[in-house]
Amino acid sequence: MTILDLQIKADLENVTDLTTDPDDFRWYLKVRCGCGEENNKWLYLEADDFTEIPGARGGEANLVVKCDLCSRTNSISLVDKPVRAYTKSGEYQTIAAFDCRGVEPIAFDPRVCSQWGAQNTCTHAHKHAQYT
Ligand SMILES: [Zn+2]
Repeated sequence: MTILDLQIKADLENVTDLTTDPDDFRWYLKVRCGCGEENNKWLYLEADDFTEIPGARGGEANLVVKCDLCSRTNSISLVDKPVRAYTKSGEYQTIAAFDCRGVEPIAFDPRVCSQWGAQNTCTHAHKHAQYT
């Protein structure tokens, strides 16, 4: 089990903080399997949306994804709720944490810009996402 923090960097203009609605936000991610295979599709997960993990008795996760290459079933779940607000303009700040099993996120797309304020900020955050 690996907990990865998603950090974004954005320039805030005319807004003091960026927040998402924790009950209604789709986290669009691209992921890479432990075998090295990158999934080219944008996948999304929602905090309140759980899927059963095949083969794991009683186990469920926000996102279950099967690797095309090694056929392993991997999963990702949001750890924290609510999502922390982004307030440090121009600096990296953690806005979410993911419990990653077998995969790691390699890209994040804020996508739903209306939930983030300005479109420019949204695009900027997309370009400056990192995982630690
Ligand atoms: Zn794989």
